[in-house]
Amino acid sequence: MALRFYNTLTRRLEEFQPREDKLVRMYTCGPTVYDYAHIGNLKSFLFQDTLRRWLRYRGYKLDHVMNITDVEDKIIRNAIERGVSLAEYTRPYEEAFLEDIATLRIERPERLVRATEHVGDMVAAIEKLSQKGFAYESDGSVYYKIDRFPEYGKLSHLDFKGQRAGARVDVDEYEKDDARDFVLWKQRKDAEPYWDSPFGDGRPGWHIECSVMSMKYLGDTLDIHTGGVDLTFPHHENEIAQSEALTGKQFVRCWMHCEHLMVEGQKMSKSLGNFYTLRDILAKGYEPDAVRYLLASVQYRKKMNFTFEGLKGAAASLERLRNFKLRLETEKFPEGVNEPVETAAAEARRRFEEAMDDDLNTAEALGAVFEFIRDANSAMDDDSFRTGNAASALDLLARFDSVFDVIEPAVEEGALSDEEVERLIAERTEARRSRDFARSDRIRDELLEQGIVIEDTRDGVRWKRK
Ligand SMILES: [Zn+2]
Repeated sequence: MALRFYNTLTRRLEEFQPREDKLVRMYTCGPTVYDYAHIGNLKSFLFQDTLRRWLRYRGYKLDHVMNITDVEDKIIRNAIERGVSLAEYTRPYEEAFLEDIATLRIERPERLVRATEHVGDMVAAIEKLSQKGFAYESDGSVYYKIDRFPEYGKLSHLDFKGQRAGARVDVDEYEKDDARDFVLWKQRKDAEPYWDSPFGDGRPGWHIECSVMSMKYLGDTLDIHTGGVDLTFPHHENEIAQSEALTGKQFVRCWMHCEHLMVEGQKMSKSLGNFYTLRDILAKGYEPDAVRYLLASVQYRKKMNFTFEGLKGAAASLERLRNFKLRLETEKFPEGVNEPVETAAAEARRRFEEAMDDDLNTAEALGAVFEFIRDANSAMDDDSFRTGNAASALDLLARFDSVFDVIEPAVEEGALSDEEVERLIAERTEARRSRDFARSDRIRDELLEQGIVIEDTRDGVRWKRK
C-alpha cells in the first residue's frame, strides 16, 4: 500500500506524491511568540515532527519552512503594556519555544523564518494584490476583497456567497460567521510599532505573512501545508485566497490539520485550571520523553485526551521498550534462530509500516511493536528466543525509534557520558572483586545520583539511565 494522507482540501485520503520526485516542500504555521507554548500547541508541532520523520523513513528529502509570528495583535498589545520593543518582548518566548521543542526532541525545520524580517516582501505582495484588483485601501488600511476570489471557502468547505460585500474585519482571528474582507495592511495606531509602505505607516496582518514566507522559500506550489485544525478558518482560507490571487496557481497540494487536545476530558483553558505548558508538566516530575510518547500515541486527526493517568501509562510503556532493548543487548540467548520469532518480527515491521503509511496511524503502529515485544519477552522467558533473533528485533526497535524517538533517554547536559559510566562500572566490578564493598556501594550510589541504575545479572552488569 502506498503512503497516503488525508487532505482537508479534497476531504479524501490521497496517495502522497510530491511535485518533484523525492523532495517534499512543506510549510508549517509556527508559534506566535507572545507566551510559552502550551501542550496543545506542542502536540501540533509533534505531529509535524512525526510527519517529517516518516517522510524521511520513506526516502524523501525535506525542505520545510516554519514561520515565527513575532508581530501580531496580542504581541503588540503586550509589548506596549510592558513598554518594550517587539523584539525585546518576543525573543525570550522564541527562545523558550526552541528550548521546548528541543526538550521534546522535535526536529527543527530546515528554515525558521521571522515575520518581522520579511515585511518588505509582504508590502510587495500587497502592492501586487492591489494591482490585480484583489485589494483595496480604506482609511489607511488595505483589505483583501474576498468576493474577487470565487473559490473562497474551498478549504473550510463553507459557502460565503451571501456575505456582505465591502464589510471588513481588522482583527487577525475571527469566527466563520464573521467572514468579511480581511486586513492585509493595518494602519499605524498611536504608539504601535510600524513600518513605512506605499499605503502609509502600518504593519502587515497575520495572514499575509504565511503566504509570503512560504512561497518565497518553497515556490508557488507547496506539497504539504500543516497546522492545527483551528487554523483552517480564517487563516489558511485567507492564505489560499492571497497566494492563488498572486500566482494564479494552486498554492498547496495537500493540507494536513492536527486535531485539538483536551485535558482530562475538557477543553484546555486558563479559567478551568487545566492549562499546561511543557514547563508546568516537567515541574511535576514527568519525563519529557513520556510527554513526547503520549502526544505521539494518538493519530493526529483524532482528538486527544491528555490525562496525568495517561502520562503515567506512557512512562510505563517507555520502561517496557527500554527494558526490552536492554534484554536484547545484554542477555545471552541459546545459539541458533527461532523461525517463528523471525516471522513475528517481519510481521510486526510490516504492520508498523502499513499503519504509518495509512495517514500516520501511530496508535496502530505502536500496537504492532508492543505485540511483538510481548511475544518476544515470553520467548525469552521460556528460552525459545535465540541469539539469531536479536538482530531483527533490534532492527524493528531502531525503525520504531527513528520516528518515535523515545527509547534512548535524553542525555542531559552535564550528565555522565556512556564511557564515563562504563569506566565507573569497571571500577566497581574491580572493587567487588577485591571485596572492597564499601567502595563498590559508593560507586553504585554515585551512579544512582547521576540517574544511572545498575543491575547485577548472571551475564554481568547491566545499566540504564533512569
Ligand atoms: Zn500561518
